[in-house]
Amino acid sequence: MGRSAALTEPAAFAMPAPHTAAVQMHCESWMSLAFWGMWHVGSVGSSGIEVGKGRAPSFRRSSIWWVVRFAFRDSISAVMPEAAALARLEARQLAFIENLTRYADRRAALAGNALRQLGLDPGSMVAAARTAQGGPFERVSTSRDGSLDPRFERMALSLARMSTLEDGLNGVPQFMPADMRMISSGFGYRSDPFNGHAAMHAGLDFRGPVGAPIHAAAKGRVTFVGTKTGYGKVVEISHGNGMMTRYAHMSAWRARVGQAVAAGDVIGQIGNTGRSTGPHLHFEVRIHDRAVNPRPFLESAPHVLEEARADLPQRAVAQSGQVRG
Ligand SMILES: [Zn+2]
Repeated sequence: MGRSAALTEPAAFAMPAPHTAAVQMHCESWMSLAFWGMWHVGSVGSSGIEVGKGRAPSFRRSSIWWVVRFAFRDSISAVMPEAAALARLEARQLAFIENLTRYADRRAALAGNALRQLGLDPGSMVAAARTAQGGPFERVSTSRDGSLDPRFERMALSLARMSTLEDGLNGVPQFMPADMRMISSGFGYRSDPFNGHAAMHAGLDFRGPVGAPIHAAAKGRVTFVGTKTGYGKVVEISHGNGMMTRYAHMSAWRARVGQAVAAGDVIGQIGNTGRSTGPHLHFEVRIHDRAVNPRPFLESAPHVLEEARADLPQRAVAQSGQVRG
C-alpha cells in the first residue's frame, strides 16, 4: 500500500501543503523585509555608502546588511523549519540511489557477459548466492513509518547481484600457477605414467625445477594445506561459487588454511611429492568437486576480464583491481 504509493508519488518531490504555505509566507515576509531594506538603502545611499572612497567595508556593519542577513537566517530556521533542507537532501539521495542502481546494473551486466563467455552460468551464481545467504541484503526501513522505499530495495538487489557476479569473475582461474611454456600433460584421458593403463588426468601438469614458485590462479581463501594420497603436498583454494583449485606434488607450502589470497600470490613451491615421476606441479580446477579443464580458463579469462574492465569507468577498475598478470 505505502510502497505502491511511494512508486507513483516520490515523497521528496511532493511538498506537503503546510510547507507550501510556509514557503509563501516566508517569501512574503522576506520580500517585505527586502523592500524595507531597499528603501533604507535609498534613504542612506547618498550619505552613508560611498563606493570608491575606501568606505565600502563599512557596508557589512550597516543596518541593511543585518536586515538581509536576518532575512536569510529567517528563511532556514524559523519560517520553514528543516523542510527545504530535507527536501533537497532527499532529492539528492534519490538521484544518488538511481544513479548507483544503474551503475550496479551496468557492472553486473558486464560481469555476467564475461562469465558466459567463460562457459559459466551467471544466473545460477546469483540464485545460489541468494539461497546461501537467505536473502541478499539486510532489510532496512527508509521512511519514518518503517516502510521500505522500493527504490532502495531495487538498489540493494542490484548491488548484491553485481557483487556476486564480480566475485564470481574474480574467482575464475586467470593467473598461470606456473610457467605456461612448461605444460607437459593436459587434461583428459591419457596413459598412466606408472602402469601404462588409460586413466583420466584431472588437471594440467607444469614441469619445473624443485623450489620454483607456484601461484594462486585466482582470488580466494585457502581451504586445505597438507598431504593427500597420490597428490603429496597439496594446497587447495576455494574461490566461491563452488569453484576450487588444487595444487599438488609441492616440495613446500607457502600458505596456511584460512588465508585470503589474490591471483598470483605465491602459495607453494614445485616438488616431486606423492605419485609423481619428476618435479612438476599438478594443477586442478574443480566446480562443485567435478574436475574441469583448467586450460580454457587460464587462456581466456585474462582477456575476457581485461575486456570487461576496459568497459568500466576508471573508478570501478580501481576498486576491483585483483588481476595481476
Ligand atoms: Zn597431473
